[in-house]
Amino acid sequence: MKVSTCDHLNQIQEIKGPRKRECDECVRIGSIWVHLRTCQSCGTTLCCDSSPNKHASKHARSSVHPVIASAEPGERWLYCYPDSAYTEY
Ligand SMILES: [Zn+2]
Ligand SMILES: [Zn+2]
Ligand SMILES: [Zn+2]
Repeated sequence: MKVSTCDHLNQIQEIKGPRKRECDECVRIGSIWVHLRTCQSCGTTLCCDSSPNKHASKHARSSVHPVIASAEPGERWLYCYPDSAYTEY
């Protein structure tokens, strides 16, 4: 993994993948999503900022879980919300 200026990203040793390819919160409220992201602190999979409910960024703010990974097939990147830092792996 490339060295990043963000310590949150540098501390990640192993990427958590999605347990299921669905947004846990959208399923609960019967909504839809566009893309999926997996929280690297707790492993929950939530929807991206292009989705109507933006559950991943809401979760990052409310839970103080900074880093998400893309849960989309073929996408291998991490993003840190507080630092707006991005890295591929
Ligand atoms: Zn960070
Ligand atoms: Zn959602
Ligand atoms: Zn989390």
